[in-house]
Amino acid sequence: MKKIDLHVHTNYSDGIYSPREVFEFAKESDHSVISITDHDNLDGYRNAIKIAKEMDIELIPGVEISCLHKDKDVHILAYYLDPDNKEINELLSVIYDNRFHRANSMIEKLKEQGVHLDHDQIYERAGENNYLGRPHLAWALIENGYCKNKYEAFEKYLGEHCYAYVPKASPTVERIIEAIRNAGGVSVLAHPYTLRNDDHIYEIIKFGIDGLEVFYAKCNDETVLHYNDIAQSNMLIRTGGSDFHGEGLDLEIFKNYSAPEFVLEELKSKRR
Ligand code: AMP
Ligand code: ZN
Ligand code: FE
Ligand code: FE
Repeated sequence: MKKIDLHVHTNYSDGIYSPREVFEFAKESDHSVISITDHDNLDGYRNAIKIAKEMDIELIPGVEISCLHKDKDVHILAYYLDPDNKEINELLSVIYDNRFHRANSMIEKLKEQGVHLDHDQIYERAGENNYLGRPHLAWALIENGYCKNKYEAFEKYLGEHCYAYVPKASPTVERIIEAIRNAGGVSVLAHPYTLRNDDHIYEIIKFGIDGLEVFYAKCNDETVLHYNDIAQSNMLIRTGGSDFHGEGLDLEIFKNYSAPEFVLEELKSKRR
């Protein structure tokens, strides 16, 4: 049985481990296929190419792209896209570059609430490639004693419902699905349950999404079955992954998780 994980983050976005460390864990736990799907950039994937070869693990090109649908943050996974495609790289640069400005805006809004975070401290925590996301702000909130843990940081300060939340400058889901297709890639709606609204899922299906991340490691069986039904009745492919970032129980989940083997056949059937 092949062990497969199609959703993994590194410290080229908001994961805590480097691509080499991730592949060392993957080797220890006998994984055969991994996709590095960092947020809004392909640097983690590029960095992993040589390491994957050395370790004899199949690496599938991937990225998890931040998009907006009806003002909500939606994540689209892209697989097998041409990593040098100009249109995709331009779109990713816009989302990625805006993260600095957005982090500064969030730091300012936190200040208005009496929460003082030091810019330099946050920039020190940024990813290998200076990637800045809400998890980096969460770590600073915890380290400075404003919150006990990440859950509290998102509940009180960083969640979409919070005063200090600033949306990313993300393109629409429709635009991203089109760009992934133009780059020869396969588009998959990540962790569909986080949309909390199946109407939105049907709208995204109409935009031409190729698949749903049905076998998401952090979902219960009932949720998996629900999205499996939606995928199958709409002729969509199914993928799965652990969404490994590295904290808390993540490493245990990563080591024990595998998507069913058929996800690879389904994914490869949509390769352009
Ligand atoms: P950003 O792209 O900067 O808006 O950050 C989004 C990332 O923050 C997600 O990919 C998760 O890694 C993390 N995240 C979002 N919501 C939560 C939450 N409630 N608790 C912990 N982590 C979260
Ligand atoms: Zn993340
Ligand atoms: Fe995500
Ligand atoms: Fe993710």
